[in-house]
Amino acid sequence: MAKKAFLRLMAVIITSASLLFSSTGECAEKLNVLTTHTVLKSIGEEVGKQHVSVSCLATGKEDPHAIQAKPSYMVNARKADLLIIIGMEMEIGYEQLVIDGSRNNKIRFGQPGYLDVSLNVLRREVPTTRVDRSMGDVHPLGNPHYWMDPYNARIVAQSIAERLAQLDPDNAAEYRANCADFMRRIDSAMFGEELVKEFGSERLWSLALAEQLDAFLKEKARNDAGNGWYQQLQPYRGKQIITYHRSWGYFAERFGLTVVAELEPKPGIPPSPGHLLQVVQIAQRHSVPVIVMEPYYSIRAADFVAEKTGAKVLEVTNAVGGQPGVNDYVSLIDSAVKKLKDALAESSEGIKQM
Ligand SMILES: [Zn+2]
Repeated sequence: MAKKAFLRLMAVIITSASLLFSSTGECAEKLNVLTTHTVLKSIGEEVGKQHVSVSCLATGKEDPHAIQAKPSYMVNARKADLLIIIGMEMEIGYEQLVIDGSRNNKIRFGQPGYLDVSLNVLRREVPTTRVDRSMGDVHPLGNPHYWMDPYNARIVAQSIAERLAQLDPDNAAEYRANCADFMRRIDSAMFGEELVKEFGSERLWSLALAEQLDAFLKEKARNDAGNGWYQQLQPYRGKQIITYHRSWGYFAERFGLTVVAELEPKPGIPPSPGHLLQVVQIAQRHSVPVIVMEPYYSIRAADFVAEKTGAKVLEVTNAVGGQPGVNDYVSLIDSAVKKLKDALAESSEGIKQM
């Protein structure tokens, strides 16, 4: 008897649940968005909000260059209305396999359901000569790690908003409004609310892009105003750092840091003893205070250089979900800025005391 009553109760629950979903209509109408990187998932959710269901092939804890196609990816891609990729060959190892395996024509290259968000971003390190294998994993379209520049995150959000608007015109205004909100959050985080109010974000960005913002703020006697990412790293402009992979150039350039060497002899080629000895010399010559590496690399090479030079090894993720507390795009940049700032402050203290 008890079992019968339980089954009846379950039937009631299921019926009312399905009534609930169908009455709001949201469940059935959500766009299925599939991304290859957790940063794209985060921005996709910010822009699409309740109208999208975003999933991601990666977790944020893996090397994005080392991802390989899995059957589960193809299952995931089968129901996607929109596939969003980093582009610039970041997904070259598995993209086509996943699309072909999904048998989902909506997400094929050239279809509205295929979005490469690199198309409008500010690109760096675009080779001017022919790229061949001897150069390591150099991408002919430029360095694909562009999302660590918050300016590019704004561009990515706009590309996503426009594509969602195209696929789901009924909610176009909402996608554009969500995108504008996201950009405002980035701008406030970047320059501090005070300066954004005073000068407007477009002006601040165009000065920053032209590397004239420091001079402008000095002229206005506002160079100590605000506590954005920009101001937090401002005292360390010109500092030289070493990174494991060539993945920090966009971040470094945006915040005025210089990458003087990488632990990898060429992008994607693991550190060799001979190369590491050269890196030690460079680190000593430039008194490099910090070695930045993503947590998915082995720490041995960085420790070797650190031991010989006194540089500090800093594990910093460049993916959402890559480290505790990094839950969305803003907290990703927030965490990278804070870690760099603390390490560079510590090293400046050390130099003062000597
Ligand atoms: Zn790379």
